[in-house]
Amino acid sequence: MKYFLTFCITCFFSISSSYALTILIDPGHGGEDDGAKAMTLGKVPQELIKEKDIALLISQKIYNLLSAKNYTVFLTRSFDRTVSLPERAAIAEKTKADLFISVHINSSPESSAVGFETYYLDNHNDVAIKKVEKTENIPMKGDEVVVQQILVDLVVEQTVSTSKPLAQTIHSEIKNSVGRKYGIQSRGIKPGLFFVLALSKRPGVLLEVGFISTQKERVRMMNPKFQDDYASAVARGIEIFFKNQKGHKSKVKIKKRH
Ligand SMILES: [Zn+2]
Repeated sequence: MKYFLTFCITCFFSISSSYALTILIDPGHGGEDDGAKAMTLGKVPQELIKEKDIALLISQKIYNLLSAKNYTVFLTRSFDRTVSLPERAAIAEKTKADLFISVHINSSPESSAVGFETYYLDNHNDVAIKKVEKTENIPMKGDEVVVQQILVDLVVEQTVSTSKPLAQTIHSEIKNSVGRKYGIQSRGIKPGLFFVLALSKRPGVLLEVGFISTQKERVRMMNPKFQDDYASAVARGIEIFFKNQKGHKSKVKIKKRH
């Protein structure tokens, strides 16, 4: 099985380089899957705020900004519908996306948890990472885990040299603009085993915008002005990433289908 997967993925990543121009924005969750949620406080009637809704609003703003800049941009969902992780991966395949940007909202049992963080796919073993993975991944067991682990290892090998600098560029834009403007703490750039990133087989990042479980952050993330600022930072980060790739003459290794 491993050799078969190696063959397939090697074909997929084989040497065909181009500057990445197609971006797939992936609003986390949707439809039956609310993602993280929390009730509004001090408001009557109380309202249930859902990760899937905020993720979609921010993703649409990133989509609009990049579409206006001559990139080919797609969304894995443009309204509230259920999209499985394999379906998201299939959309990445169909659209021949060069980059995959997944947008999520964090949650924590600690009501004081704050900050934004940026993940890229890496098979790094860490307790803190595992905690986040649990909320963003599909439950799997037995052989499924083994096969997916092989897939992750192979995809990491092919994408990490692009995903990591992409994460660094986007995160630093968020930190220098949104972080400073709103006084929000950066929780850093982290490796993580997110199957939505692995299955997409693309260089990509998973963004955790802030904590829905923390009132101050929840209110801020519902504010359209904040959503605009965050989306602008992400779009700028992607543009800078492309410029840097061009400047260093190290092209993004992306596959064109054979
Ligand atoms: Zn999520």
